[in-house]
Amino acid sequence: MECRLDGQVAVVTGASSGLGRAVALLYGQSGAAVVVNYHRDAEGAAEVVRQIGQAGGRALAVQADVAEEAAVEALFDAAARHFGGIDILVANSGLQQDAPVAKMTLEQWRRVIDVNLTGQFLCARAAIRRFRAQGRRPGAAPSLGKILCMSSVHEVIPWAGRVNYAASKGGVALLMRSLAQEVAAEGIRVNAIAPGAIRTPINAENTEGEAGEKLLSLIPYGRIGTPEDVARAALFLASDMADYVVGATLFVDGGMTLYPAFRDNG
Ligand code: NAD
Repeated sequence: MECRLDGQVAVVTGASSGLGRAVALLYGQSGAAVVVNYHRDAEGAAEVVRQIGQAGGRALAVQADVAEEAAVEALFDAAARHFGGIDILVANSGLQQDAPVAKMTLEQWRRVIDVNLTGQFLCARAAIRRFRAQGRRPGAAPSLGKILCMSSVHEVIPWAGRVNYAASKGGVALLMRSLAQEVAAEGIRVNAIAPGAIRTPINAENTEGEAGEKLLSLIPYGRIGTPEDVARAALFLASDMADYVVGATLFVDGGMTLYPAFRDNG
C-alpha cells in the first residue's frame, strides 16, 4: 500500500501559503484534486493551482473567510460542484495576533478564536454534512471521509503573550477528539497534526537569524521544520495507510513537546 490519494477530492483551507500550500502541492502530486482555499492572497492561490496543474494534477482556487458561516458553505458548494464530491478536509487556516494579556484587545482575542477554532468547527461541520449526503463514493477510500485539523504544539504548551492562540489550539485538541468520537462509527476519520516550529510566514520573525538560533534550544532534533515535514504527515493521515488512525494528534515538532529544558534540569 502506498500513500496515494488517487480519485479523491481534498479541501485545504489557507492553502495560498505556508503549511496549507505544501499540503495542497503534495496532495496534488499524490493524485487528489485539490480545492485551494485562500482568504486574501488570490495570487498565491493561483500559483498553487498553476503548480498542481503543471505537475499533471487538478486544482481550483476558492476564496472564503473560514470564520464566516455563509462563506464556508459556499466554499464546500463550489468544491462539490466542481469536483463532484469531497473526501478530505484539511482545516489548516490560522493566524496569530499576539499581545501581552493586559494589552490584548477583545477584538484580537475574538479574531484568533473565530478563525482558528470556530473556522475549524464550521469547516468540519460542512465536511461531515457532505460526507453523509454523498455516501460512499465509487472507488473511494474505506472511510466515508477524512478530516485533519491543523493544531499546534501550543495545544499542550502554554504560550505567554499569545493566550488567544494557545486557547484556540487547546480548543482544537478537544474539538478534534470530540468530533472523532461522534462520527467514527459512520466511518469518518478525524485526526490532527500539531506542528512545532516550522518556517512559514506566520512565524518568520521567530525562525530567522538570532531568534532562530534561540529557538533551536527548544528542539531536540536540532533543526527548524519545513512545510514539507508537515505535508508528509498530512498525506499519511489522509491516506489509507492510516485507515485505523482515529482521534489522534500527530506531533510533528522535532521533539519540542519532550520539554528539552528538563534534560539537564528538574
Ligand atoms: P501562514 O500564515 O502561511 O498560513 C496561514 C493561512 O491561513 C494563510 O494562508 C492565511 O491566508 C490563512 N487564513 C488566515 N485567516 C484566514 C481566514 N479568515 N479564512 C481563511 N484563511 C485564512 O502560516 P502557517 O504556518 O502555514 O499556518 C498554517 C496553520 O499551521 C495555522 O493553523 C497555524 O496555527 C498552524 N501552525 C503553524 C506552525 C508553524 O510553525 N508555522 C506551528 C504550529 C501550528
